[in-house]
Amino acid sequence: MKHRIGRARLAGAASVFALAGILVLSSASAPRPRPVGDTHSVALQGSPVELVFRSLQPGEAILAFLKDGPGVRRVTLQVRDAKYVLGGTEWGAKPFALIGIDVAAKAEPLDIRVTEEKTDGTLAHFDEALAIEPKEFPRQRFNVAEAMLNPPPQEQERVAREADLVQSVFDIFTPEWMATGGFQSPLPGRKPFPNFGQLRIYNKTRQAVHAGVDIAAPWGTPALASNAGRVVLASNLYLSGETVIIDHGRGVFTFYCHFSKILVKRGDLVKRGQPIARVGNTGRSTGPHLHWAVRIRDVRVDPFSLVDLPLD
Ligand SMILES: [Zn+2]
Repeated sequence: MKHRIGRARLAGAASVFALAGILVLSSASAPRPRPVGDTHSVALQGSPVELVFRSLQPGEAILAFLKDGPGVRRVTLQVRDAKYVLGGTEWGAKPFALIGIDVAAKAEPLDIRVTEEKTDGTLAHFDEALAIEPKEFPRQRFNVAEAMLNPPPQEQERVAREADLVQSVFDIFTPEWMATGGFQSPLPGRKPFPNFGQLRIYNKTRQAVHAGVDIAAPWGTPALASNAGRVVLASNLYLSGETVIIDHGRGVFTFYCHFSKILVKRGDLVKRGQPIARVGNTGRSTGPHLHWAVRIRDVRVDPFSLVDLPLD
């Protein structure tokens, strides 16, 4: 398929601040089915690398894999400041990587520097610019008490410390791929609200991008690990409440918030589909729901763009 170069166009997200977990039930955000398995693929010009994705837009995950290419031992993709290694032995046998387009990315070409390492030891470099198409995310205005926007002064140090803690977790890089097969919804059969990437405008002045999806479920419903991995955070945080983060390897993390009870602890190895916690309303949340988010090399993508990738 052909991808045209999109013009830079970004909703005026001037200031972005952290405000997790506000779930508003209105007709505008009523759950609706999402398309399943609707992915496309494109070959990187002149290389044995193929990219698979739902769309090349902000907030989307991309699967890059190495097709059988004669004489190619390993391919490295350099995207922004991250390197993705396909093949060889450095990162294990599976020649694929996951790449994200950040939810706040501009619709301008994404530069990929490709380095091919051939079996005869020679190197070939070439550059590819991937056209990123614009995406219009929903917007919602809120009028809330200022106290709800600003943590009380005695909690501000805690909020800052926890933001640093979460960032330090996302900075972990585990070369080993710990996941098994494709990613699944932590609440199978429950429809997510279509609120990934929603631009939230509070009291006309402050803006936040909702970088996850909300899935409503009754209090106490077990939530499942989206895939196998290692629990790297299982703690109560001021904004996101009882929170679990799983490292799946190669820079891919799933992040779950507002639980009533956590069933795992830091360091645990979990299986795909294993119950990790029970749905709740802890932290900054207005009703029982799961806020589910994904980071790929510190880039924020729609969790369902990862679920839809053919990793099985
Ligand atoms: Zn949320």
